[in-house]
This record gives sequence, C-alpha cells and structure tokens, in this order.
Amino acid sequence: MVDYPTNTSHTHFNKALFLDRDGVLIDYVPYLSQPEQVKLPDSAGDALKQWQNAGYLLIIITNQAGVGRGYYSLQDVEKVHSYIHQQYNRFGVSFDDIFVCPHHPDDKCSCRKPSPEMLIKAAKKHHIALSQSFFVGDAPSDLEAAIRANCEPILVLTGRGQETFKNIAQSTKKIKVFKKLSDTVQLINLGEDRRLG
Ligand SMILES: [Zn+2]
Repeated sequence: MVDYPTNTSHTHFNKALFLDRDGVLIDYVPYLSQPEQVKLPDSAGDALKQWQNAGYLLIIITNQAGVGRGYYSLQDVEKVHSYIHQQYNRFGVSFDDIFVCPHHPDDKCSCRKPSPEMLIKAAKKHHIALSQSFFVGDAPSDLEAAIRANCEPILVLTGRGQETFKNIAQSTKKIKVFKKLSDTVQLINLGEDRRLG
C-alpha cells in the first residue's frame, strides 16, 4: 500500500469515457470552426448522461490541426467547445476536461493523436485508471492512441468511422464497434457485470 498523507482521494482511481470530438461527439464537418455548425448526434445527450451516472468522467480528446494550418484560431475552438458544453448541459451532461492538440501535422508535436500523450496527461491529472477506461473514436488515430495508452478502443461508424472500419477489417485486433455513440451504453452494463462478478 502506498501512503498518501495529504489527500486520501489519491488512493481511488477514476474511470473515464474519452471521446473524440468531430464525428463522435458532434456530427462530422471538416474543419468545423463555428458554433452554428455544431449538431449533436441522435440520443448522444441521453447516452452520455448514462455514462456519467455510471461514474465515468467524460473527457474530450481532439486534434484541431485547423489551428496549426491557420484556418481558425484557438479562441474559435474554445467558442465551439463552450457551445458543445452548453448543448450537452441540456441533457444534464457535463464534461470534466477537454484536451486539444492545435498543431500542424508537420510540427511533429508530441500530443497529436495517434500519440497517447493527451490520454496519459488526462489520466495523471484526474487519477484515471486507463485500463478501466474507454476511448470512443471514428479515426484510426483514435484507436491507435487508445491502444498505446492501454485504454479500450471503441470505434463508432459515424463521421469517418465507416472508412476506418474498412481499413481495420483485416486487422487481428479485437476492437469493439458500435453504429453510433448512443449504442456504447451497452458497455456500461458489461462493466457492471464484470465488477459484480
Ligand atoms: Zn500537438
């Protein structure tokens, strides 16, 4: 046992549902930069409320290379995020954190997915057990980041998901696939069964 004298909460680890933004949390629009372009997928609000009620932290992990490419600013991204938050709040959903990589792919930064860095940072900051957490994404880079972080990758077939599915079809990796974000609530009960069993 490790002794944490100042903060007993450190002995407890959280679980998280990590979420890619474009094509997962909101309908896919390439280089989306305005709140007006934001549309929540069907039943996504209710689904995330269920995840939250089950005790999962909700954390957004997003590459926004449009900033590095000069298409829009980090302030535009923040405006979009506050709008997304507002829209999900209507369902009682609150995001615990948002991690953004604003870099151009040519910058060779350390945070851009498929790097697991944003997931690892989030885990340190929020005391998350990555092995008991999920990362829902629609792109190969999301799945790879999840695998490299030792977090369970979940592919949804929205956004770029169909294309991603075709590309991983040959792969031997067992990746859970769901038609859309709201279908992932099936995993909550699986987790409960595992815990009780
Ligand atoms: Zn980066």
